[in-house]
Amino acid sequence: MSSLRPSPVAPTVDFDRDGVQHGFLRLPYSRDDSAWGSVMIPICVIRNGTGPAALLTGGNHGDEYEGPLALYELARTLDPSQVSGTVIIVPAMNYPAFRAGTRTSPIDKGNMNRSFPGLPDGTVTQKIADYFQRELLPRADIVFDFHSGGRTLDFVPFCAAHTLLDKALEQKAFDAVAAFSAPFSMRMIEIDSVGMYDTAAEEMGKVFVSTELGGGGTSRAQTVRIARRGILNVLRHAGIVDGAVETGRTQWLDMPSGDCFSFAEDDGMIETMVDLGEPVEEGAVLARIHSTGRTGVAPREIRAKMSGMLAARHFPGLVKAGDCAAVVAVKVD
Ligand SMILES: [Zn+2]
Repeated sequence: MSSLRPSPVAPTVDFDRDGVQHGFLRLPYSRDDSAWGSVMIPICVIRNGTGPAALLTGGNHGDEYEGPLALYELARTLDPSQVSGTVIIVPAMNYPAFRAGTRTSPIDKGNMNRSFPGLPDGTVTQKIADYFQRELLPRADIVFDFHSGGRTLDFVPFCAAHTLLDKALEQKAFDAVAAFSAPFSMRMIEIDSVGMYDTAAEEMGKVFVSTELGGGGTSRAQTVRIARRGILNVLRHAGIVDGAVETGRTQWLDMPSGDCFSFAEDDGMIETMVDLGEPVEEGAVLARIHSTGRTGVAPREIRAKMSGMLAARHFPGLVKAGDCAAVVAVKVD
């Protein structure tokens, strides 16, 4: 790490100053329409003395909105007199992707959650990842990263943490998930964790919590309410914000293996046969893919490889071979 050049990102906020600061992570980005231009990533720092620090992010993927909606509001409304410690808020982490309304950056096609640990002399997305890796994550005790399904997936609303080898760290993360009090709480095993922000934080020993709160490239009244209440709950649970955690009923879910996922093997028009949250039996038809090129062709069925509950589904009406069609999770007590 020490051989890397310094980050080109210049913050306009002072992380060690008390009070509320609204500023930017300014990342130089020279281009045709702005020779000495920059990407200006909004950041808010709310600090009141020494104490634990929370790093809160939305817009890791640019087409997921519950996180940004909750975090722009939190930045506007959280009073430092309610805070003991530091809250660092970056509501739109992959800001170019967020501005474009796309999952990945329009500048370099970078998927922020596959770009860690990043590079200080890489692409724009890699430079943002590197700044989080080397400057922001080390400041945090607890890291909260909002996700939703984006344009192509839709989820039942859940808060989640990973099963980890470090069981003490795992327990702290699951305690924070419980405090968030989403309708569902998920124990996740990551199948492809290389390059993820999650992994970067966990490898530093940080408590890392995430969500999937809906999707379809939009937000819903219910999921935004869940996000806003949940993040305050987590900050209260961590002792950073005053007040009691507003607990609610949550159903714990587990994704025990790769059999949770069903992928389309055909292009076509998808017919969902089970709605989100409904129970499914092993072998049940989750979706049918209809060929659209000619009439008279029978639809291809996608069947559940395990029993459980439908936790996520492909969102658009058209599907391509290789798309994730459905995710089944198991209810646990
Ligand atoms: Zn996401």
